[in-house]
Amino acid sequence: MKNIVLGLSIAAIASACATTTSPTGRTQRVGAVSQQQLNQLGAQAFAQAKAKMPQSSNAGQTAYVRCVVNAITRQLPANAQANWETALFVDASPNAFALPGGKVGINTGIFTVAKNQDQLATVIAHEIGHVVSRHHDERVTQQTGTQAGLGILGALVGSAYGQGAANATSQLGGLAAQGLLLAPNNRTQESEADVVGQQLMANAGFNPQQAVNLWENMIAASGSRQTTWLSTHPDPRARIAELSNRAGALAPAYQQARASGRTPNCG
Ligand SMILES: [Zn+2]
Repeated sequence: MKNIVLGLSIAAIASACATTTSPTGRTQRVGAVSQQQLNQLGAQAFAQAKAKMPQSSNAGQTAYVRCVVNAITRQLPANAQANWETALFVDASPNAFALPGGKVGINTGIFTVAKNQDQLATVIAHEIGHVVSRHHDERVTQQTGTQAGLGILGALVGSAYGQGAANATSQLGGLAAQGLLLAPNNRTQESEADVVGQQLMANAGFNPQQAVNLWENMIAASGSRQTTWLSTHPDPRARIAELSNRAGALAPAYQQARASGRTPNCG
């Protein structure tokens, strides 16, 4: 009986899918879960990450990361600006992620490749670019027909209707949410996050040309270190060419941001 109820609820959720247009103009299928449920998934995945990994006690580095996140999120539409939460994890692997519901996670290892605030902004704006381009929504919607999608929707529906032990559901939901939300993006989504992220950083007053330097550093580091971000972000050379081309086109937006007083001084 429970399975039938769940099945019906999932069918009802899945039927809410819609198509929309992404920031770069492609057609997206989204909406298998509501924005509220997606934010809940993001919060669960973030809580799980915080339970697993120690956070930095370095006040200077934490403030530095928050400063960059704040400068970038101030450039988002008003409804996407509020309450971004940042965690700086003690982990030598250069990695970062952002989640629906306004969550950003950064590993301390990122400082080995992001050597100034503009390079750090490149990474953070790219990750926030995935969120504002609704790539998590797109992936959840795509996966509703799969085992993982059913599991996560089941957990969500279960918690929404108070079935079963809340803790067990939330634990399951957290793990499933991590698997679903932190999976690698596809190439189309990667390119889109590059475009959206570089525009965001220019609007925030970070030098969009430094995106090229960030990727050069990432490639240089890949020989000697474990570079998680590089493993989920393929084709660095192709990216560099495109980021370099667009940096010129973004120079006016960058200069206008600086002239308007958007001159972040994060460290
Ligand atoms: Zn990405």
